Amino acid sequence: MNAEDKLVVRRISNGTVIDHIPAGRALRVLGILGITGDEGYTVALVMNVHSGKLGKKDIVKVEGRELSKEEVDKIALVAPTATINIVRDYEVVEKRRVELPGMIEGIVRCVNPKCVTNAPREAAKPRFRVISREPLKLVCEYCSEYLSEDEIIAQLAGS
Ligand SMILES: [Zn+2]
Repeated sequence: MNAEDKLVVRRISNGTVIDHIPAGRALRVLGILGITGDEGYTVALVMNVHSGKLGKKDIVKVEGRELSKEEVDKIALVAPTATINIVRDYEVVEKRRVELPGMIEGIVRCVNPKCVTNAPREAAKPRFRVISREPLKLVCEYCSEYLSEDEIIAQLAGS
């Protein structure tokens, strides 16, 4: 961790620091978390800072909010390189790396209205195979419909 990173991580007293977000994607991460600024959380957004590993990266700090497992899984879709730092009393008490699995279950829905996952009764749980990570592209296990990164982000930000 370089001095810049340490400064950014250290300033938060309690909450979450999402580090190593691919450059330019911090706003998408906030969208996924449903944070608009109206909630009253202190949010810091750092975009396009130098990073040894990624070249450039974004960082998001949310004071007073720890992320759920479901939120971490969603972030993995748009920021697969991200690390999640949980901070309590100015100390990083937990550091987690997000993980983009080969199969995505139940986080996003199929865009094909005729897909069995969209059936009005006893709908199957949506399942998608990851066929591309950069940019993200998923294919429905049931009807082979593709889901683009833009569609995924629109769904996650709206839910
Ligand atoms: Zn489908």
